[in-house]
Amino acid sequence: MSNPKQNCWEVLGCGREPGGINTDSLGVCPVPTTYNCDGVNGGTNAGRFCWAIAGTLCGGVVQGIYAQKATNCMRCPFYLQVVQETYESRETLILSPKQLK
Ligand code: SF4
Repeated sequence: MSNPKQNCWEVLGCGREPGGINTDSLGVCPVPTTYNCDGVNGGTNAGRFCWAIAGTLCGGVVQGIYAQKATNCMRCPFYLQVVQETYESRETLILSPKQLK
């Protein structure tokens, strides 16, 4: 059974979390260390809110700010997984930084 609260780096296997296998060559992604998003959508730091974080490293290139990357991220299988899991668990889904208090 899959863990419904997995973080993006665990599902997508990028190896860009601190200590990950690709950090020497590609650097650490900002998502796993965005501490002020810890717990959003049930993730560790921004691990289940990665589409809202500027400068992520998905696809091997630095992505832009939220407005620039939103279209790409919303086609990502991990984004769709978080949406589905949150809907099924009837929890509140946080999609935008504006929803954070
Ligand atoms: S957002 Fe960052 S940590 Fe998450 S899968 Fe993409 S590169 Fe990895």
